[in-house]
Amino acid sequence: MPTTTGIPQGQREARIASHSHIKGLGLDDDGFAHADRAGFVGQRAAREACGLVLELIRSRRFSGRALLLAGAPGTGKTALALALAQELGQKVPFCPMVGSEVFSSEVKKTEVLMENFRRAIGLRVKETKEVYEGEVTELTPAETENPLSGYGKTISHVVVALKTAKGTKQLRLDPSIYESIQKERVQIGDVIYIEANTGAVKRVGRSDAYATEYDLEAEEYVPLPKGDVHKKKEIVQDVTLHDLDMANARPQGGQDIMSVMGQLVKGRRTEVTDKLRAEINKVVNSYIEQGIAELIPGVLFIDEVHMLDIEAFTYLNRALESSISPHVILATNRGLTTIRGTESEPGYGGGEGIVSPHGVPIDLLDRCMIVRTMPYSRDEIRTVLQTRLKVEGLAIEQDALEKLADDGVRTSLRYALQLLTPASILSRVQGRTEITLADVAETDGLFLDAKSSARGLQERGEGQYL
Ligand code: ATP
Repeated sequence: MPTTTGIPQGQREARIASHSHIKGLGLDDDGFAHADRAGFVGQRAAREACGLVLELIRSRRFSGRALLLAGAPGTGKTALALALAQELGQKVPFCPMVGSEVFSSEVKKTEVLMENFRRAIGLRVKETKEVYEGEVTELTPAETENPLSGYGKTISHVVVALKTAKGTKQLRLDPSIYESIQKERVQIGDVIYIEANTGAVKRVGRSDAYATEYDLEAEEYVPLPKGDVHKKKEIVQDVTLHDLDMANARPQGGQDIMSVMGQLVKGRRTEVTDKLRAEINKVVNSYIEQGIAELIPGVLFIDEVHMLDIEAFTYLNRALESSISPHVILATNRGLTTIRGTESEPGYGGGEGIVSPHGVPIDLLDRCMIVRTMPYSRDEIRTVLQTRLKVEGLAIEQDALEKLADDGVRTSLRYALQLLTPASILSRVQGRTEITLADVAETDGLFLDAKSSARGLQERGEGQYL
């Protein structure tokens, strides 16, 4: 099995799911933040600062630097990083991670960082392929041997109206490509590309003209015609360097893009090694030089960056200088704190460790543009709650919303947002469609927010919590 670090893909997506209402930084043309725009509420100074960073990135003046977001939990640091990635473009990779992820018993710290760096670097591959473009005008499912299993498992007959330089030509396709047609779930009226060399079929859209325009008699199994029907098409695929690492560590064979991209490097392998990455970089660089591919640096977001240790920071510092670095955004809620890993090292302050702002070494801090995030007002918390309710399709009674807003002020926006789902489940279980004050009160009673939990620990003494 190829090595890949701890966090499963689903979990990574879940990390972004709570931000699905965020569509960008919500700035106007002059870079000013609107109170409530693109899903973003308040936090105007930080959003405007991120807008400036965006300008630096766009004008290629941000390389070698990083953005450090400093602020209390739930003040929108992750949301800001995601919004910045969204502003950079639609298919720009966003890779969120937490500092503590680097500590794993199986994988080296630097390996975890390297893998996440490569998840945050996109490659847009432009392939020019000779394809036929056509619309499916007839498609007959074969009768299966067992009538109970229904029709449509195999295909007996497909007719496609192919576009040619001399007009449209209807052809009955050779059965050898039916498998590919089935795999793409092609239906009558679909527009498809048929790759000239391999016969691979790709569904590209729907046509509304097929029923009326094509009443030509289809010829019997005609081979795909040569010459004038060939159309060159540019096919654009977005992958990350990590995708390429994985595909080449476990080559699949076949026609789809990942299989093809999995054959960049010759020979059988089972794991992602530095050598494999170096070979992939070489091929990628030659693609870039030939104009086949374009590098799309994305955003690597490292939350709780104070959890990294001195070794990881050293690596990070070096990686920032690389010519293929993603844009790095760090986040922390710590002020002055000891840099991890400096406590026990001789020469690092005799067991005390080095204390540094945000627990980040000064040489890295020097490269950072630091932006603060501020606590939210009650109104802002209420507006974010309303936005989330809308996105999740939930209804709430006014007094329940007010209580959640109060909870948000007392604890954090994050905590108030987290109460929404359990409160909605409670109301649904009781057959109601609206979240009521009682639902919120009950949910609130079941869980502890971080502040009350910490207070409990302090009052009872650590370890005697139960
Ligand atoms: P932590 O550092 O503890 O992870 P954070 O500062 O990264 O916290 P987020 O995870 O960004 O906080 O915010 C918590 C939730 O609140 C998310 O669902 C986020 O989308 C939402 N949110 C935060 N700030 C805003 C805002 N200004 N407008 C809209 N939604 C916001």
